[in-house]
Amino acid sequence: MSSAASLSGDRHHLHAQQQDPTKTKTIRQTYARRLRGAFGRINSTIRDAVIEEDIFGLRDDDLSDEQVEELLDTFASADRDVELRAVDEPPDLSTVLPSERIERFREWLQTAQESEVLEVIDRDENVWVRRAYERGLEDADTNLRQAGLDIESTDSKAARELVEMPVHERKLQVLFSRNYAELEGITNAVAQQVTRELADGIAAGENPTKMARRITDRVNKIGKTRATVLARTETINAHTQSTIERYRQQGINSVGLEPEVQVQTAGDQRVCDRCASVAQRGPWTLDEFEGSENQPPIHPQCRCAVIPIVNEAAAAALEAHPHEFVAMYRTGAFVDESRERYEALAATDVDGAQELVAHFSPTQAAA
Ligand SMILES: [Zn+2]
Repeated sequence: MSSAASLSGDRHHLHAQQQDPTKTKTIRQTYARRLRGAFGRINSTIRDAVIEEDIFGLRDDDLSDEQVEELLDTFASADRDVELRAVDEPPDLSTVLPSERIERFREWLQTAQESEVLEVIDRDENVWVRRAYERGLEDADTNLRQAGLDIESTDSKAARELVEMPVHERKLQVLFSRNYAELEGITNAVAQQVTRELADGIAAGENPTKMARRITDRVNKIGKTRATVLARTETINAHTQSTIERYRQQGINSVGLEPEVQVQTAGDQRVCDRCASVAQRGPWTLDEFEGSENQPPIHPQCRCAVIPIVNEAAAAALEAHPHEFVAMYRTGAFVDESRERYEALAATDVDGAQELVAHFSPTQAAA
């Protein structure tokens, strides 16, 4: 780290872990797979009940048992997921009034979604969100070390202890309930759409196969699809939030140098224009960045990470003159790098301010 580094120009960039800058791919995948599996089990139950058991009484009674088996096989091979039936079967509604059939089936579906889908996570615990958050703490410290800050490294065990700090625990609780509320919203949307399809299907006098297809299609398109997006997006959200909080914590408590941040994309072909352009901008202070439209997830299924940018001159100043540096830092000297700022600082009576200003002033650096 050279003291001759220009204050306005040179910045220390990190290019670690392109492709999966948050290192949360496995977490995103298992979270999504578990949610999809839950919807899949509901679909299996629906297929059996609607086709084999004919719970809506839609069959004209001209299908043999073998034909029914054949139909079920067609369905089974069309769906690649292994879907073990786990939920209780819906009741036989063939003798119930059509208007009531729909309501009764909706009730069953809601219960099934509660016991299968919502059971995957909890209002106040979510193993994937927690893991992503812990990974964010680890990554934040790794990134800060790579940016040249003298801090201890944090392994996964240390991260598990760190999350017990109230500031992290509070953030996690908000993330848990947010995930739960969103998943609940998805199950409500599934129930609403399935109800509509059921009404349309009954009105059209459709056969059991068509009806089953109508319903399971909604569970797939609404349930599985949105749950997958939720899992991917919220994993990134947890990672981002913990990273930002850790940068703030380490900046203030450990080194007196709060890093500015930038966005790092996955750097591959799938990166969208929006994220690519955000990654070109910044760096921002943590307060500027947090909660802004530039904070990942920038859009659903975003894969971006938040990386620290440590001003080299500032880091060198910190090393050479720790006390004076903190005083300068508090005046905003290393955030707003304007000449006015330095000149104003030189006029103050902070110990060593004159020396630091002479050493790191933009005029000096440009010379
Ligand atoms: Zn992104």
